[in-house]
Amino acid sequence: MTTIAFIGLGHMGLPMARNLLNAGFAVRVFDLVASAVHELASAGAHAASSAADAVSGASVVISMLPASQHVESLYLGDGGLLGSMAAGSLILECSTIAPESARKVHQAAANLGLAMLDAPVSGGTAGASAGTLTFMVGGDAAALEQARPILAAMGSNIFHAGADGAGQVAKVCNNQLLAVLMIGTAEAMALGVANGLEPKVLAEIMRQSSGGNWALEKYNPWPGLMPSAPASHEYRGGFMSELMAKDLGLAQQAAQSTGSSTPMGALALQLYRLLLKQGQGKQDFSAIQKLFVE
Ligand code: NAD
Repeated sequence: MTTIAFIGLGHMGLPMARNLLNAGFAVRVFDLVASAVHELASAGAHAASSAADAVSGASVVISMLPASQHVESLYLGDGGLLGSMAAGSLILECSTIAPESARKVHQAAANLGLAMLDAPVSGGTAGASAGTLTFMVGGDAAALEQARPILAAMGSNIFHAGADGAGQVAKVCNNQLLAVLMIGTAEAMALGVANGLEPKVLAEIMRQSSGGNWALEKYNPWPGLMPSAPASHEYRGGFMSELMAKDLGLAQQAAQSTGSSTPMGALALQLYRLLLKQGQGKQDFSAIQKLFVE
């Protein structure tokens, strides 16, 4: 049986690791937050006492951490995990990080004979729980074939985006578009309601008209319209605004490096920074609605 080390059991990592357990993999888990480790241990995982302890005896390592600096410090440098992994092991790095950071880890892993894929995800916490995530994979095609049964236990769409770092490039493009769609939806909802429309009626009209988009389909930012959306739970859970701001910053860095023109992405980043300054960084990214109603 394949033994998998899973590091980072937050909003996304916890349900992803649970799906691996449900699929019959042996899973060794670690997070800085002990309660997350205990929750998975009670579902059948081995509770590791450190990241190094988690990878001991594992042939696959999955990480799901907040940002580039966490991933670089986990794997690289003195005491980094790469030094504790057995030759031939496979790393699936699923966090959303800078493509250059992913390439740094790819290179260091390759120097030690370890395979690595950058495999960021889309689909949110609901997709993570349901095992229907989309994986955007960068790296070697043979490593992807080795990883496929593991990724398939956590997701339903697996795309090979290209070479090392390409998964991260695809992810920042997608999240820039998602932010623009979410902001546009929030702005239109506030405009319609301020002009006398019922939010439910307006949402349904736009969903079925040419303005229809993912936010209107699955994640309406207006409170009370979709029972499962974070907007209906005081914007708790889901995808934190500070993580969206991080991804929009990554998109701007990518644009800078190629001289690409991304005015909508730049404006989206500014609006999310404003939301963070108002103390809403831990709220779901659909809380951008508040900028237009308060
Ligand atoms: P999160 O903050 O809920 O979880 C991150 C976890 O990593 C936390 O539990 C934290 O304690 C842990 N952690 C940090 N440093 C660690 C270390 N050195 N060792 C062990 N554990 C450590 O974040 P999340 O929402 O689960 O997102 C994780 C990644 O996935 C981010 O890069 C995010 O951008 C991306 N992502 C999130 C969503 C979403 O909807 N939440 C969707 C797609 C992609």
